[in-house]
Amino acid sequence: MSENKIDSRLIYNTKVFTKGRVQFGYVLIRDKIISEIGEGSPPKTLFKDTKSQFDCKKAFLLPGFIDTHVHLRDFKQSYKETLETGSKAAISGGFTTVLTMPNTIPPLSTVKNIREYFDEKKIFYCNIGVFAGVKEGFDLENLEKISKEGVFGIKIYPGDKSQDLPLKWIDGWKNDLEPEEFFASIKKVLSKFQNEYANWEKLFKFATELNLPILFHPELPRFPQVLEFFYKQGKKIALHEGKINPNLYAHHVAHPIYQNEIANIEMIILFLRKFHPDPKNAPHVHFVHVSNPDAIKIINTALRQEGYPCSIEVSPHHMLLNYDMEFPLESFAKVLVPLRSQETQQCLFKTVQENLIDTIGSDHAPHSLEEKSRKFEEAASGFPSLDFAAQIILTQFFNNKLKLEQVVSYLSTQPAKIFNIQNKGSIKVGFDADFVVVNEVNPYLIKGENAQGMQKWTPWENFELKTKIIKVFLSGTEVYDSDLGFLEANGKFLKRLIK
Ligand SMILES: [Zn+2]
Repeated sequence: MSENKIDSRLIYNTKVFTKGRVQFGYVLIRDKIISEIGEGSPPKTLFKDTKSQFDCKKAFLLPGFIDTHVHLRDFKQSYKETLETGSKAAISGGFTTVLTMPNTIPPLSTVKNIREYFDEKKIFYCNIGVFAGVKEGFDLENLEKISKEGVFGIKIYPGDKSQDLPLKWIDGWKNDLEPEEFFASIKKVLSKFQNEYANWEKLFKFATELNLPILFHPELPRFPQVLEFFYKQGKKIALHEGKINPNLYAHHVAHPIYQNEIANIEMIILFLRKFHPDPKNAPHVHFVHVSNPDAIKIINTALRQEGYPCSIEVSPHHMLLNYDMEFPLESFAKVLVPLRSQETQQCLFKTVQENLIDTIGSDHAPHSLEEKSRKFEEAASGFPSLDFAAQIILTQFFNNKLKLEQVVSYLSTQPAKIFNIQNKGSIKVGFDADFVVVNEVNPYLIKGENAQGMQKWTPWENFELKTKIIKVFLSGTEVYDSDLGFLEANGKFLKRLIK
């Protein structure tokens, strides 16, 4: 009995989300693991037999949230965020596990860099895993080594290419060439393209063999001149129409839905269907921060309904913010892919209500205030989100816009399933005791200065919340309390189980 007592904890008087529904009851933790889930009041003996007890006072007990799209920076960008500050933002916002993106400086595209990132001496509050970046040439030998470091997937950015194709392509299309030279250069370009194509095919096969999801930032790379041209066009229209945020509108025009976002998604779909006619042998493709309902329809029709393993992430800002809203500073809301129109945003929210997507990822991308206060065109893209993202989504539940099972599915269960994060994402016997205790409270407004991350500015300033994160448990230990603050930094580096 006394041995059990050492590591046992009782959480009771709570609305537990388990087996897809809410039940009033209690949860027993033994040795960091959920050992019992009961309905109603716990037997009296459990109060005596457990080392500690926590009365939830009828608040909800949900599985700790998992954000599979964050940029925790660190390394040379520690002036923006570190694992310590970023994980504080995560934990106080209800996220017990995050997977961070590889575009650090230096990037997480070599074994050496990943090992340095996973420095056990670092202090951090939530569990952290990483995605691998690709080096020029899709160096598969390098990727194979990286995959053994326990990365959760391979992230492809718009600028990632297997060769220096886009520039060569332009070189080939000089209009002052003699016909013969012209055809010779086209041939050269096409052979380059053949190689490019072959490298994509190799990457897809490689990911299939290793059972590693490939994540796509859905945008085609655009030449700076093209971006600038369309940005200026957009700005003209915005000023003519008297738009409240002419720069945000121009940013959207320069990164359009069809020619840029959907075009990239269609390219991936074509590659996938060409390289893997049998969906059973295809790699899992995950599209991050999809901004519009048409893209979702296309992915679901061309891939999901055909049996291809795929998933769609949307971000809270594309669900709830648009380029016609008021922000403390226009550039605070500058992000890629950009905020869209109110109509697109509302239709995207509907796809989330209709279960047409899989996960909600915050795309937490902190920058310094100085980097965001520059002239719009030069301001950095992205903003910090971990502090408020889950509470923004939970507020949609308390406002009857989303069901609780959808919130838990998008923020916990699906992220764990898609990325094979073991024993997390559900309140289930045998699973890790990662919980968030939340309640509905009177409406209050988001203030960036209350953020726990390093950056204290946000495009969500004055957005109304109705939730409070009361307590957070990580591996059965209380790590955060709304009154007491941070209690313990016991986050772990997570590694994907290699099959
Ligand atoms: Zn991102």
